[in-house]
Amino acid sequence: MIYFDNNSTTRVFENTVDAMRPFLTENFANPASAIAQFRGIGKVICAQKASLSRALGADEADQFVITSGATESNNLALLGAARANPRRRHVVISAIEHPSVMEVSERLRTDGYRLSTLPVSRDGVVDTNALSGLLCPDTLLVSVMLANNETGVIQPLGSLAADVKKHDPEILVHGDATQAVGKIPIDLSGELADIDLLSLSAHKFHGPKGTGALFVRDAGAIAPILHGGGQQNGLRSGTENPAGVVGMVTALLRLLGVSAAYADVEHLRNRLEASILALHPDAFVLGASARRLPTTVNVCLPGIDAEDFVDRMAARNVAISAGSACSYGARKPSHVALAHGLTYEQAKCCIRLSLSIESTGQEVELFLRAFAEASGCVPPRSNPRRETA
Ligand code: PMP
Repeated sequence: MIYFDNNSTTRVFENTVDAMRPFLTENFANPASAIAQFRGIGKVICAQKASLSRALGADEADQFVITSGATESNNLALLGAARANPRRRHVVISAIEHPSVMEVSERLRTDGYRLSTLPVSRDGVVDTNALSGLLCPDTLLVSVMLANNETGVIQPLGSLAADVKKHDPEILVHGDATQAVGKIPIDLSGELADIDLLSLSAHKFHGPKGTGALFVRDAGAIAPILHGGGQQNGLRSGTENPAGVVGMVTALLRLLGVSAAYADVEHLRNRLEASILALHPDAFVLGASARRLPTTVNVCLPGIDAEDFVDRMAARNVAISAGSACSYGARKPSHVALAHGLTYEQAKCCIRLSLSIESTGQEVELFLRAFAEASGCVPPRSNPRRETA
């Protein structure tokens, strides 16, 4: 199968499976075990968190709370911040957040919080000028993703966080970096030095499903949302998952080691994009002139129902998604496409192609052949070349 749906999930690297295996077999003990022979497992988790911390430019291993993935990390960031500081009752999120931020914010609204939405430009970049007008004396938190899952558009999160802190250093800034980690540099002591909370998820960067993390710069900023055995300094109770942590960190380090190859992936993505625009006379790319992840393109194909098209491509052994896989099946137009200013009709015609570091030129060629067949569009040779929209 040609798999161009890597923003949905990725294949686990072989070296990652190998690194995880001992923690599922002989080293299966509970990392909190008091038995002397098993104490090494807890130390492995600490060492892995220290590696994660170095890879992302954090100061300390303990600044990472290991979670079950970005959904939990986002819930812990928003609900945990609300619990830690109940006097602040206002939250700002961008218009293009993942449902795991949007729905938690809606939950807070139900509980009496005020919620403001930071709009995006037609290119899907948050409107930083609108931010100061939204902040209030009791704003608890601003949450803006680092890269969008549907379009790959990268947000100016570092400068936005600096603006928030200039306005009021007490306001927390949360970044959902789920799609960005491993694909673009992350420096929590450099460009992202003003970020308080950052979410990530292993399965988006060739690690296992069911493991993620929340970076928490200052532990006092959040209160736990899961209560129990008091693991992870009381911030996240529950038996720790050594295989998951080892898998997450092994995959990330491997990906960072080969990140120069993203220049080639970007070329492949650009070739895909240009060829589709040449094939379909009215196609246009969401966020075309914004900075985007090298892996992702979201293209609107007017006149083609995206969900039917995904099925037609699947019948040709090509995996892509319609807008976001997370809202796929709901048959609702994507809120991200609508935030870009698309009409309902246009929003239902958007497909997302997401490559990985493992994608090849041959796959791009095979994809384009399947695309021409499934869309009924004429091949580029008989169609004058068009500029990127
Ligand atoms: N945030 C973003 C931007 C995502 O793309 C996703 C996954 N689609 C999530 C959060 C949720 O991640 P997880 O599957 O690890 O819960």
